[in-house]
Amino acid sequence: MKLSELLERDRFSLSFEVFPPKTDTAFDSVKLATEEIAKLSPSFMSVTYGAGGGTGRYTLEIAKNIKENHGVPTLAHLTCVSSTKETVKEKIEQMKEAGIENVMALRGDLTPELEGSDRSRWAYRYAVDLIHELRECGADFCIGGACYPEVHPESANQKEDIKHLKEKVEAGCSFLTTQMFFDNNLLYNFLYKIREAGITVPIIPGVMPITNGNQVERAIKLSGSFMPQRFKSLVDKFGSTPAAMKQAGIAYATDQIIDLFANGITNVHVYSMNKPDVACAIVANLSDILGEKK
Ligand code: FAD
Repeated sequence: MKLSELLERDRFSLSFEVFPPKTDTAFDSVKLATEEIAKLSPSFMSVTYGAGGGTGRYTLEIAKNIKENHGVPTLAHLTCVSSTKETVKEKIEQMKEAGIENVMALRGDLTPELEGSDRSRWAYRYAVDLIHELRECGADFCIGGACYPEVHPESANQKEDIKHLKEKVEAGCSFLTTQMFFDNNLLYNFLYKIREAGITVPIIPGVMPITNGNQVERAIKLSGSFMPQRFKSLVDKFGSTPAAMKQAGIAYATDQIIDLFANGITNVHVYSMNKPDVACAIVANLSDILGEKK
């Protein structure tokens, strides 16, 4: 099912993000974890590409398994920044063969080697280049893009970032998923600005339940997200007690999701990654809300 159709539904729902294995030996455990999450009947599941060293082959295998054997619509991620035209075209062909309907078109993060290389020689400089490729490949993919309520770290300012975001939408994005954030007011402010800029496609807010004190530093470093005092206090108090931090992190994410639903959002994307217990706890916390009419 195309996510553009699914996002038109007016019932509260959650989607979950998972990541592919880095090695063959990890494949079975990742497959099992993703299947456990699929059993929660999310609106869809997204499978990241290359993050942490996983390969595109695994992204497609996991996405295909979730869709075909568990009936959950999937969104396969694809990055382009260090790729040649041939590699990207080959990946797109593999997606077509695997029956993938939804693709998250991303640039990918710049490694230190890429930062220092000659950008004029790159086949793809920005996600928008990949969106054009996907639009011209002859398949009718439903394409998504990434957006940043707190501004992408490489952008000079929010105005520039939103200008380029609009270019992605005009190139063919049917929806946008946000980077994680811990203060919903940042999302509401961002929504106001992008709507004012004429971006009208559905926005899927991304929420990451922080369930481990050690995860905080890495998550903040990667996303550049602002940590509200309420969240900092929680990490200070419970960060060194794993079970307590997990419970507090799930409660914080649940609270964020309820507030988003109460303020006009219908689908929230949960970055619970390959942790069925965390996904399950959030679904249980929202059992009387999920499926309700907006
Ligand atoms: P772009 O949209 O290309 O933007 C990158 C920067 O370039 C921004 O600052 C933008 O303003 C600027 N820009 C865009 N177009 C132009 C232009 N024409 N001229 C000048 N500047 C321009 N990474 C992975 O490796 N695998 C994943 O599966 C993955 N999934 C993600 C999912 C989500 C929802 C998000 C938010 C991020 C994900 N990432 C993933 C991380 C992502 O690859 C990085 O954040 C990356 O740095 C930017 O990717 P992008 O697609 O947003 O890039």
